[in-house]
Amino acid sequence: MMMRAAVLAAFGRPLEIRSVPRPAAAPGQLLVRLRACGICHSDVHIWRGEVRPPEAPSTFILGHEGVGVVEAVGAGVEGWSAGDAVGVPWLHDTCMQCEECLDGHESFCQHQRAHGLNVPGGFAEYVAADARFAVPLPPGVDPVATAPVMCAGVTAYGAIRRAGLQPGEGLAVFGCGGLGLYAVQIAERMGVDVLAIDRDPAKLDHAGFYGASGMELADAGLADRLAGRRDRRHAAINFAPTTATWDAMIACIRPRGRIVAAALVSEPVPLSQEWLTGTGVTITGTSVGTRREMSEVVALHARQPLRNPIEEIGLEDASQALEMLESGRANGRYVIRF
Ligand SMILES: [Zn+2]
Ligand SMILES: [Zn+2]
Repeated sequence: MMMRAAVLAAFGRPLEIRSVPRPAAAPGQLLVRLRACGICHSDVHIWRGEVRPPEAPSTFILGHEGVGVVEAVGAGVEGWSAGDAVGVPWLHDTCMQCEECLDGHESFCQHQRAHGLNVPGGFAEYVAADARFAVPLPPGVDPVATAPVMCAGVTAYGAIRRAGLQPGEGLAVFGCGGLGLYAVQIAERMGVDVLAIDRDPAKLDHAGFYGASGMELADAGLADRLAGRRDRRHAAINFAPTTATWDAMIACIRPRGRIVAAALVSEPVPLSQEWLTGTGVTITGTSVGTRREMSEVVALHARQPLRNPIEEIGLEDASQALEMLESGRANGRYVIRF
């Protein structure tokens, strides 16, 4: 049996809409019929060949924000039935043997395999998922609104958890694209006071609408203005893919505050060890989230949907969406609807 898929035939070239063999549910796997798949900025890096798997899947299909229904259940799988609502996230599987995996921090496993990178992803009508890492979803969730939660949402949630925020504390969110807007909503629901920072006034408006109590435009005077504020932040999370926010993060953080890197920024930033000794600030990082964090963010989303501006597209529009994301012209998250 065949399925439609957007296949990455050559890095940086438009994806090819092809009819390819439909995967089967191997032992331990679920075959998922997708109803939606979000497009993430990581997909752009993979598409361009900036992030390459050591061994590419034989049919290279991007996508790690899948939402669908279980079509078939492989041998040995318990707890899943055909027709269940299911999410297909970034983590396809991890080694289940290293300390990170055994400690429940499997998102830091150095032997993980990801959908849309190491194994085929969700830019296709069907995908095979490891039943241990597939995400149980409540029946009736909106697939389009839920797809970006599978990566952007859990990454925002994982970053907030990593920041160790308590109700009543103050958070600065740097970068109010999809991830930042999820972080604003999640933090606000936890009783955390959110200061939103972005260079785009329209994104700050969204952040205010979603629950930020303060907004600052990321212009040349930002670090000075933040240094002058009396409400220094207990935590600062960087979702902006740039080193330009670093000075402002240092300026806004309180002594003993936590700085969390969530965006992939490969260039180094200046750091004074003397400043670290004087402030006791913790600097750490995060990437997607654990299965436990996923179930927590899904529960939050099920109680009251986490929102984001979403543009629904067809599978054939995926290449164009990647280009829009790359050029920074996207006004929200793109989600493929099947
Ligand atoms: Zn992603
Ligand atoms: Zn591991």
